[in-house]
Amino acid sequence: MTRQISAPRGTRDLLPEETPAWDRVEAVARDLSRRYAFERIDTPLFERVELFARGLGESSDAVEKEMFRVAGAKGSEEDAAPWALRPEPTAGIVRAYIEHGMHVRPGPLRLSLIGPMFRYDRPQAGRFRQFSQWDVEVIGDAGPAVDAELIELGQRFFAEVGLADVAAYVNSIGDATCRPAYREALIAYFAAHDGRLTEDSRRRLHVNPLRVLDDKELAPDVADGAPRGVDHLCDACREHFEALLALLDALGVRHEIDHRLVRGLDYYTRTAFEFYVAGREGQQQALGGGGRYDGLVELLGGRPTPGIGFGIGLDRTILAMEEQGVAPRTRPPLVAVLGPGDDHDRRLRVAASLREAGVAVRPDGSSRKLGKQLESASKAGARWAVILGDGDALALKDLASGNQRDAISIEEVAAAVSE
Ligand code: AMP
Repeated sequence: MTRQISAPRGTRDLLPEETPAWDRVEAVARDLSRRYAFERIDTPLFERVELFARGLGESSDAVEKEMFRVAGAKGSEEDAAPWALRPEPTAGIVRAYIEHGMHVRPGPLRLSLIGPMFRYDRPQAGRFRQFSQWDVEVIGDAGPAVDAELIELGQRFFAEVGLADVAAYVNSIGDATCRPAYREALIAYFAAHDGRLTEDSRRRLHVNPLRVLDDKELAPDVADGAPRGVDHLCDACREHFEALLALLDALGVRHEIDHRLVRGLDYYTRTAFEFYVAGREGQQQALGGGGRYDGLVELLGGRPTPGIGFGIGLDRTILAMEEQGVAPRTRPPLVAVLGPGDDHDRRLRVAASLREAGVAVRPDGSSRKLGKQLESASKAGARWAVILGDGDALALKDLASGNQRDAISIEEVAAAVSE
């Protein structure tokens, strides 16, 4: 027998029984994007490696360890893998913003994207090499009102897909004015506890001491004693953060401050936030996260422009919905069209008319006995069967109750199944 080929490690096929949940989650994301006045943007699935290296930071996990590189045709100039599949959407969106001179549009720009992201990480529960995000970005607004609006939007999304107990954690990691001193304070503190750091953290300590804080293997007592970002904010950053917290209170958005929340990418400034389902905190199982990136547009060659956004992981959202028993599994009701003998032309015509009326229809393509056709319609999950008889008359059978109405028209069928 020929050897079977399986899907690449860290990827998943979404089988039909799983896709109703995906349809729901994507529909909620699209509808919220509309209600919150975001415009859709799409960018390529791969970009030049240097975009991510510059935008996300060389010492970020996404660049240092998880970049999924793409090469051109063998022997071509592009053989050397100058591209990478996007690990996150913000860098590509900001690249597009600059490339298309979008700063001249009436701002702030509110952009939204749904699509796959790629990280060459070791696959494990809730961690895939290809996963999907719903992402929103607001470019050209320094906040703090928009920061609160995005955190409220994230919470609304989780409520509307039916998830209970999703908590928002927030922090402020300062800006170019106050972060240098905070970095120094962290370096001094962790250098004094050097022996208790993981190898990764020790290596990173002088490059990116903030990342040492969110090392999940950091001993709790060392973590608790570490200098806190909020104690090192300059006046402007402190006012921004306090205003954000007051707005969240005023909006009734439940939130907690997490002093270890720094987000993994270099481009973040000030507001950082993450969403966790209760009980999953600290397991690197955030459902989503985001933050402010006031320096990124300039870093990528545009004019200084503030920005903020979040990415919500749809795979983990759906896993959480399955755990909480709120993932939809059923499709809209289906009508089967059956008939005696080889009357396929009539079955297809009746199916087409019903579809025109908006009904979901699955015609039986076989010439089996009616009883067999009814049986497979039930197994395929049809709610009703339209049975063709002599002439134009149709019968409509409710497959659950067995009740049947005879001699009815296509219009009557459409009306009956749409009730
Ligand atoms: P991040 O920017 O790393 O915080 O990612 C934002 C969200 O995307 C996370 O909160 C996760 O829900 C999701 N996510 C990130 N990496 C993965 C992954 N490897 N597999 C599945 N979901 C992921």
